[in-house]
Amino acid sequence: MRLRLSARVRDEIHAHGVRGYPHEVCGALLGREVSGDGAGELRDVTAVFALENRREQEAQHNRFSVTPQDVMRAERAARESGLDLLGWYHTHPDHPARPSEFDREHAWPWYSYVILSMAAREPGDMTSWRLADDRSAYSAESIEVEGNEAEK
Ligand SMILES: [Zn+2]
Repeated sequence: MRLRLSARVRDEIHAHGVRGYPHEVCGALLGREVSGDGAGELRDVTAVFALENRREQEAQHNRFSVTPQDVMRAERAARESGLDLLGWYHTHPDHPARPSEFDREHAWPWYSYVILSMAAREPGDMTSWRLADDRSAYSAESIEVEGNEAEK
């Protein structure tokens, strides 16, 4: 399982994290699944959809969750761009880019969950995770930025 981000997508996630710091921010990952390249499943993320105006939730650190309304808005944004909704990103202000227990419990199978660690407004490590269909495991997937070496 691999996730490929365009440099622009990476920059947009960084910028959103900076804008929201010290609060947690989140958004959707839009793009396409690429198959048949012989190197396992690859997801190509070419756009993001920032979920803004979530003050109540942003007031709580490490309490990222996606509401049914978020899914509807993100699906609509994807459709309008001719892309698919592939997953979600959120930031961990002043915490490592590791899923919290809450993240794992509230994850849905199939989607990619990108976590960006932010320290003092500076974007840090970025990781991505996927929940097994039977919820037995929440596994890291590699992230590549537009032809660069995998970051994690
Ligand atoms: Zn989290």
